[in-house]
Order: sequence, then C-alpha cells, then structure tokens
Amino acid sequence: MTRYAAPGTEGAIVDYQSRYDHFIGGEYVKPARGQYFENPSPVNGQTFTEIARGTAEDIERALDAAHAAAAAWGRTSTTERANILNKIADRTEANLEKLAVAESWENGKAVRETLAADIPLAIDHLRYFAGAIRAQEGSLSEIDDDTIAYHFHEPLGVVAQIIPWNFPILMAVWKLAPALAAGNAVVLKPAEQTPASVHYWLSLISDLLPPGVVNIVNGFGAEAGKPLASSPRVAKVAFTGETTTGRLIMQYASENIKPVTLELGGKSPNIFFDDVWSRDDAFRDKALEGFTMFALNQGEVCTCPSRALIQRGHYSEFLEAAIARTEQIKTGHPLDTDTMIGAQASNDQLEKILSYLDIGQREGAKVLTGGQRIEYDGELAGGYYVQPTVFEGDNRMRIFQEEIFGPVVSVTSFNDYDDAIKIANDTLYGLGAGVWTRDINTAYRAGRSIQAGRVWVNNFHAYPAHAAFGGYKQSGIGRENHKMMLDHYQQTKNLLVSY
Ligand code: NAD
Repeated sequence: MTRYAAPGTEGAIVDYQSRYDHFIGGEYVKPARGQYFENPSPVNGQTFTEIARGTAEDIERALDAAHAAAAAWGRTSTTERANILNKIADRTEANLEKLAVAESWENGKAVRETLAADIPLAIDHLRYFAGAIRAQEGSLSEIDDDTIAYHFHEPLGVVAQIIPWNFPILMAVWKLAPALAAGNAVVLKPAEQTPASVHYWLSLISDLLPPGVVNIVNGFGAEAGKPLASSPRVAKVAFTGETTTGRLIMQYASENIKPVTLELGGKSPNIFFDDVWSRDDAFRDKALEGFTMFALNQGEVCTCPSRALIQRGHYSEFLEAAIARTEQIKTGHPLDTDTMIGAQASNDQLEKILSYLDIGQREGAKVLTGGQRIEYDGELAGGYYVQPTVFEGDNRMRIFQEEIFGPVVSVTSFNDYDDAIKIANDTLYGLGAGVWTRDINTAYRAGRSIQAGRVWVNNFHAYPAHAAFGGYKQSGIGRENHKMMLDHYQQTKNLLVSY
C-alpha cells in the first residue's frame, strides 16, 4: 500500500493554487463581483482553496470570449481538432498520477479508482472522439435525374455545459470531447463542490487550445448555472446532475427554444437470478463482486446499483455471502492505494445519506450491515465518511425509490422472471441495470425488457467510450459516449441541388 501525500504537504505530487478564478478567453479572470467561496476537502473537511463565485456578468464575459473564438474553431479541419484532442489525451496521460491524486483530494474518492478508472476513461474518451470526428461522413442521395440532396454536419456554435461533482474531470471530458470534436466553443460550469480538479487539469492542457474555445465559469447553480442555461447566446445546453435540476434546465432552455441533453439521476436495479448460486465458484464470486458495486465511488454514481433484487430460491445464501463481501470493503484514507471507499464528496451529501439511513429504519427496513457514519481521528477527523450499508425492505419504500447517492443498497427478493422485471421497472428512473444469470435467454429477454438506457449483463460499471450511455424515463434525454453523441453537437445542413 502507498499513501500519497496530501496536496500542499511535504512530498506531495500535487499543489493546488490557493485561489482559482474563472478561465475566460485563454486567461484567468477575476469574478466581476469580486467574491470567492471556500472549497473544503472531504478528506478532512478543511478548506484547501478558494473559488471565484460566478454570476451573470461572468457568464456574459465567457460567452463573449466563446463567440469570438467559435467561428474560427468551427472552420478548423477535423484532422486539426482530432490532433488537438489527441495531444490533450497524451498530456493527461503523462500527468495521470497527479490528476488522480488531485481529484481524490477534492472529491474524497479513493485514489485507486481515480488511477484505474476516472483518468484512464477520460483519456480514452478524448482519443475516441478524436477518431470519431475523422471517421464521420456526410451523405448524398439522388432524388431524381436532376436533383441531389447533400447532407453536411455543421457545429452548433457556442454550447453551455453544466456538470456535477461525482467524477469532476471525467464529467468535464465527457462533455468537452464531443463538443470540441464537432467544432463548438464551450462555456462550462463545474460543480461548486469540485471546480479545482477541473482547473488543475485545465492548467496542464489549456495551452493546446486556441483562447476562448473552452471557458470555465465557477459558481453555484442559481447564480452561474441559471444565467448560462437561460442565455439566448448558447445554441444548446448539455447538463449532468439531478433530475430536479434537469427539469429547471429544460425550462430555462425552452425560453429560447434551445436543445438540451440531460444525464440525470438513477435507481438502478441489480438482478441476481437463482442460477448465479451454482457450483461455479468463479461466476458466483463475480456476481458477489457485482453486488458490491453499489458502493463503488462511495455510491456516488448515477448508475449505482442501489436496488439489489435476489431470486427467492437462493435468497438467504446469496444475501449472507453478499453481506460478508460488503463487510470486506476497505474504507479509509482516500489517498491510500488499497482504500476502496473514501469520503463522501461534501458535508451536504453526507447529511443527505445519513438522513436516508434514518428514513430507511423509520419506514421499517432492516439494516443488515453498516448504517452509521464513520468518525475517524487524526488526519481524517472532520471528513465525511459513511459505512457501506445493506438494507432489506420493500420496493415501494423511499430507500428503494429515491436516489440516495451514497454507499447504500436496498435489497428485496423476487419470485420469477416476470416479478423481477416488474420490480426493476417500478421506478421513475431508467438509467442503468444489472442482470446476472448464465441463461442466455433470460439475459437477453431481461436486457430488452428493462426500461433503462444501459443494461449490464454479468458485469457492472464498465463505461467504454464506444457504448452509448443515457437514460430512459426521468433519467434523461439524449446519449453520451458513442459516436452518435456527435449528432447532439451538430446541425444537419441539407443542400438540395438541381443541375
Ligand atoms: P445537481 O443537479 O445539484 O448539480 C449539478 C450541476 O448543476 C452543478 O454544477 C450545479 O451547480 C448545477 N445547478 C444546480 N442548480 C442549477 C440551476 N438551477 N441552474 C443551472 N445549474 C444548476 O447535481 P449534483 O448533486 O451535483 O450531482 C449528482 C446528480 O448527478 C445525481 O442525481 C446523479 O445521478 C447525477 N449524475 C448523472 C449522471 C448521468 O450520466 N446520468 C452522471 C453523474 C451524475
């Protein structure tokens, strides 16, 4: 096990700035109203940097810079844009360890995840869209002897992007890579809980981009996010966050008839059919590991498998083994390389999770393991830690229906295939789902019947750039990842030409 030194301490590989301004037109710009807010690390609750508090004036300034840059950027060749994205990927890769530590410190997540998943996925995503834009083609149709229809892709212009705190750098890259590949200039607002990691990454790569192509305005949703999403000067709003905020974003964007893509909340079912409990130890083991995915990233994943549905035939044996496996999850210092679960991202998030631990018990669910805040002494004192928790209850309970966004899973049983699908679909959400079975027919039928944009069969939490990701129902509109994402950032121009 290695423990990375905390940023700013002796031996640290990361040094955050004591203050982050907005990044507009290729330079750091002070907030128009001169205000800053404190940014604490969830590791110990101590402020480690101050952040410019953005308002409508800052958004306007960023939009000026983006508009000044958009036309020239939109005219660059796809090869040129792809080369820049590849260079950003290379620079990100060369700084992988630093970025992993920076993100872990600001978000509280375990560095083993940021090293193995968050930053490598961001790199892959950049390279994927560098390739996808070069491979994109238009079309030509012969209408009749004299007439031909050409279809071209054009950038939208200036787009607004608003992201959450659970994967600060990855969420920024998921948004920026396709938008830039498609030739747009961007104004992006990071989450108020985790802007510094986005700036840290930006400081490593910003010289690769023409000024004004990417602009970052920090701040809170109502003060900076709302004027950005409401602006008539943006051609589109791309948002990732809570479903309740997604409703507001749609309202703001509707004032100016702007398209939105929304990546929202989830309450993903993870379904374990009886045949998982077979003699095949390796498969059973994989499924048990799949059960514990509810706690990955401290449970702060939109697709987190927060409802486990276990078939009645082997319910008790499976659950007993699943609890034992949950109790082996190592919680602790986020910068230790063997920690599996670090701190929750903010005090508000911690309070929210604790309130659900209480709600679950009051509505009659049984805590099978966990259920408490963890209060460490020493270096971690004051940090935001929670035990991985397994509840047993009924799918109509609030802990089964509402997004907790913490390391909490609610378990229930089902009788047969139809029962499993009924329970799985009994939710407002439709983002992700897991199906565990060795029966290919059951897997296929369940995969097609569950109303969710992504169904993992015999795995969970893989996010390759070339697999489309997005929500059914109130989990969102549109898709991320996959080359189809480019369509969300482009206009289709038709030339109907007669000779
Ligand atoms: P949130 O909705 O509170 O905030 C997300 C972003 O929106 C932040 O930048 C915030 O400042 C901004 N915002 C808040 N109110 C706003 C307003 N009125 N106008 C404009 N912007 C506003 O969400 P969060 O708590 O940061 O993130 C957690 C949520 O994100 C969870 O619901 C999770 O499921 C979801 N999420 C979804 C995906 C996905 O791909 N579907 C991925 C990650 C997170």
